[in-house]
Amino acid sequence: MADSTERNARHKRAMQRKKEHIDGRIAEATIDKGLLVILTGNGKGKSSSAFGMLARSVGHGLKCGVVQFIKGKWDCGEQKLFQDNPLVDFYVMATGFTWETQDREADIAAAQATWKHATELLSDPAIDVVVLDELTYMLTYGYLDKEMVLQALESRPPSQHVIVTGRNASKELIEIADTVSEVGETKHAFYDGVKVQKGIDY
Ligand code: ATP
Ligand code: MG
Repeated sequence: MADSTERNARHKRAMQRKKEHIDGRIAEATIDKGLLVILTGNGKGKSSSAFGMLARSVGHGLKCGVVQFIKGKWDCGEQKLFQDNPLVDFYVMATGFTWETQDREADIAAAQATWKHATELLSDPAIDVVVLDELTYMLTYGYLDKEMVLQALESRPPSQHVIVTGRNASKELIEIADTVSEVGETKHAFYDGVKVQKGIDY
């Protein structure tokens, strides 16, 4: 009994110190600005995190734009959910993965046409949140000019949030970002022969 009283008191003191520390850090964070969030790495969870933030944003009534690079062949749940939502301008690049099209010229043309939609969103101050899903591949394959993309991201309206997903985000992209998460792969069911699952993968 005495033991647990002492333990509870120690816990309370530790939590009080923690609260003071956290409250101090919260009070120091006073800046309000549009963020560039990068979700990269080899693990699963990049696009689903981006669409989680989109759901939050729509929940708050924010105006959003989505441009999905690469995908478009699958019957994505996020597209079904958001494409008819008046708060979301949803654009999907019409080609599949580059290893499916196997046509570099067609991929480049599709990437550039898709990028035009992204630049429209990135120059519109009425758009609060922009998701550029799988954008990094357009840069690693050299389908879009790196400088052009960096410039468009940096000159966007100051209060606009942008979320970029895709593996191998470049050093330059990471440098200009505010928040970067690298999703690591610990396990993936695919390697156990499990096919893509509705709701979890698409
Ligand atoms: P999600 O859309 O599920 O958040 P992601 O955006 O992190 O995934 P992508 O590289 O875009 O990952 O891959 C999309 C699809 O490939 C999803 O069906 C996902 O489950 C699957 N996938 C993701 N990571 C891996 C992996 N490491 N190995 C095999 N398949 C993967
Ligand atoms: Mg993805």
